[in-house]
Amino acid sequence: MFELNRMESVVLRLKALAASTVLAAALLGACAAAPLPPGTWDARAAPSVEVVRDGDRWTVDYAFHRAAPVWAFMDSALMADGRQPWRPTQWTLETPGVVMERRGHYDVIRSTNGGPVPSQVRFSIRPKAVELEAEYGALTFSDGAVALPTRQFDVFALSSVEAAEAMPADLNGVDLEGGPSAVTWRDMAGPVLFNGERREGLTTTTERSYVLLGQARVTPSEGLTTVIDPNLPPWIGEEIRSFAPRIDDYYLRRLGPPGVGSEASTVMVSWNGPTARLSSMGGSVLPGLIVMKFEGVGVLNPSQEVLERSRWFIGHESAHFWLGQAVRYQFARDAWITEGGADLMAVRGFKALDPAYDARAELQTEVDDCIDLARNKPVAEAGERGEHRAYYACGAVFAMAAEGAQKRHDGGDWFDFLRPVLAANRKDGVLSRAEWLDALTRVSGDPTLAATIAQMLDRGAADPAAEIASLFRRTGVPHRVENGKVILS
Ligand SMILES: [Zn+2]
Repeated sequence: MFELNRMESVVLRLKALAASTVLAAALLGACAAAPLPPGTWDARAAPSVEVVRDGDRWTVDYAFHRAAPVWAFMDSALMADGRQPWRPTQWTLETPGVVMERRGHYDVIRSTNGGPVPSQVRFSIRPKAVELEAEYGALTFSDGAVALPTRQFDVFALSSVEAAEAMPADLNGVDLEGGPSAVTWRDMAGPVLFNGERREGLTTTTERSYVLLGQARVTPSEGLTTVIDPNLPPWIGEEIRSFAPRIDDYYLRRLGPPGVGSEASTVMVSWNGPTARLSSMGGSVLPGLIVMKFEGVGVLNPSQEVLERSRWFIGHESAHFWLGQAVRYQFARDAWITEGGADLMAVRGFKALDPAYDARAELQTEVDDCIDLARNKPVAEAGERGEHRAYYACGAVFAMAAEGAQKRHDGGDWFDFLRPVLAANRKDGVLSRAEWLDALTRVSGDPTLAATIAQMLDRGAADPAAEIASLFRRTGVPHRVENGKVILS
């Protein structure tokens, strides 16, 4: 019922530098885990919404059931590129006397005369696939199909624009007058696609997923239904169909079933075309659904590098069925738990399936990036700075320390550390920072490890390399220090 949290949305962008075939692994992450409890909704305040597609014309009609001077959109993420709000670039108000504007962390609508927003408000929209920070965006397919996130229509009522400006960015734990809107979906061209099935009439409310309006190729198969852009380079679809079930099996063997919603998985893959000088893979995970988008001339053919990246990416996204959905984090600032954890799961899972994979190089990147991103800056606040990458890199570093402690304890690895932690927190579905750090203290018998990590999370470090080397020394992660750098060995 109470679902306030941003969910996972990762974008790994591999930008071509000199030539389109040369990939530099610049990882651009946005994040967040699963829906979250604290705080309460007053769902009776939620409006009803109707989304209609008629060819190129899209309309979104709000019917508000209570009067409020201001309505704010729950999902008011910024675009990753340029950090501007996405909604004003895609949504246009058609109802006179109402304006949409940015107030604090939120897109809001208000009436121009200061009175309540009219009970009927219409937008026309032009869905665009843009990367958002820690939030789901529209997926566009090259045949014109579009998939929209179910929950981007949710709003809450506010008494004034000043009240909107005072709202915190992270709504976890905040009581709101609003709730999941009942959204009715209609495509004049035919049934919409939801949960891998075509539906004549569809209303979504609390579900976190995507609804696809348009064609796209649906291939049901045992355990994994794929919805694939017909123009996606064929090797990518083949890779997903073959590699995804393998890494999933490995995780399943090591961690047990992730839980509800994971039995019938759907992978939805869009293709944004062979943009010059770009190799881009993005994705996110919702209950029972992985969405991915590929773009750029660099992914047209499966070079060794692109193939490896795509497998790592599938491994990271699949890991979120466990770290992210079986358990989620408590606050957005704890995303290091799910992102770093998923990174190390992907590295270990990939290595288990392919012994030739260079896990050390991947983890070295995490160490290097964490050092850069934690220097005198609190890792926990990285999201507010737009430096989501810190959650991945430093989260992976902390996970490596936990893995080292586990190895010393009983010869185990990251999955052995995670398994009891998942089991203990499956019931309430939340893996908090305190619970994660307590598990580390339990396994290592050394409370100073948790203190070092807490310090990096809350304050950063003047010399992050020294802190990380010290963490690794105390947990037995093989490394050496050279010219102030931490080199994994
Ligand atoms: Zn992720």
